[in-house]
Amino acid sequence: RVKEQGKNNFQFYTSEMNEMISKKMKLEIGLRKALERNEFKVVYQPQVDVCTGKVIGAEALIRWHHPEMGNISPAEFIPIAEETGLILPIGDWVLYEACHQSKQWHKEGCPPLRIAVNISSRQFQQHHFIGTVTKILKKTGVAPSHLEFELTESIIQDSKHAISTMQQLKDMGISLSIDDFGTGYSSLSYLKTFPIDTLKIDQSFIRNIFTDPKDASLVSTIINMAHNLDLKVIAEGVETLEQLNFLKQRRCNEAQGYFFSRPISAEEMRGIFQNQSITME
Ligand code: C2E
Ligand code: MG
Ligand code: MG
Ligand code: MG
Repeated sequence: RVKEQGKNNFQFYTSEMNEMISKKMKLEIGLRKALERNEFKVVYQPQVDVCTGKVIGAEALIRWHHPEMGNISPAEFIPIAEETGLILPIGDWVLYEACHQSKQWHKEGCPPLRIAVNISSRQFQQHHFIGTVTKILKKTGVAPSHLEFELTESIIQDSKHAISTMQQLKDMGISLSIDDFGTGYSSLSYLKTFPIDTLKIDQSFIRNIFTDPKDASLVSTIINMAHNLDLKVIAEGVETLEQLNFLKQRRCNEAQGYFFSRPISAEEMRGIFQNQSITME
């Protein structure tokens, strides 16, 4: 009887695993074809100055529509793209697309605004990353001062290479921010040696500021620390007016989240850039 149960458990476990593996394989096969099949697009989420309420820029976020599986979240496919190396062509594509779009908005009469692009560690660590960025800037004609790269703490592992690459990007005029700040496992000492402009407080801290006093303390502390280090702070995942007011009181510089807008199409974003306003639902 014990033996039987053990066997059943084992079978249940493997069939569940098989399902996971086959979904992952499906995604991987799909990812290999997605670029040439034009299945990706980029959406944009406004970033707002907390003091003035003005939109000062937008974060570019990739979207993937798989022909059979439908919309797949980047949280699901980006890790696979990173594992397989497919993030390199995909990341280059997003960067080109965001720069091209930024130039387009400018041509359409929008004031020049900052576009933030997520750069995966693997992309950042390529030897020709600086070369790729230079080429894309030249081809699209975007001013580097209107570009921000969102990096995660994981790039800090290879610190010597990271500092030199970051410095080259800074010298070109590109701003750098640390995304999901506070969720990595790196020590804080990198904050004094890395040429960073902005800390982006992870949405997991913002979510619970009124339910968990510890999260409220962490958010306040990150804002103060950033200011003491002469860094800007942006909060992500702001969903309510109460959260925004909390951040305002503590002098957080910028905010982004569903309270202002969900990620939207380039056309919708153009409307916001032109009118400098967001219609609250
Ligand atoms: P991230 O860079 O931290 O982006 C923020 C995520 O939070 C986005 O999810 C955004 O849609 C979502 N978000 C924004 N405001 C709110 C809010 O008020 N509440 C909640 N609950 N969520 C909000 P998304 O677009 O699904 O992207 C997930 C992650 O996938 C990103 O996290 C980023 O790490 C990665 N990613 C997305 N696009 C790219 C890309 O082009 N390249 C790379 N390397 N990674 C990307
Ligand atoms: Mg980001
Ligand atoms: Mg983030
Ligand atoms: Mg995040």
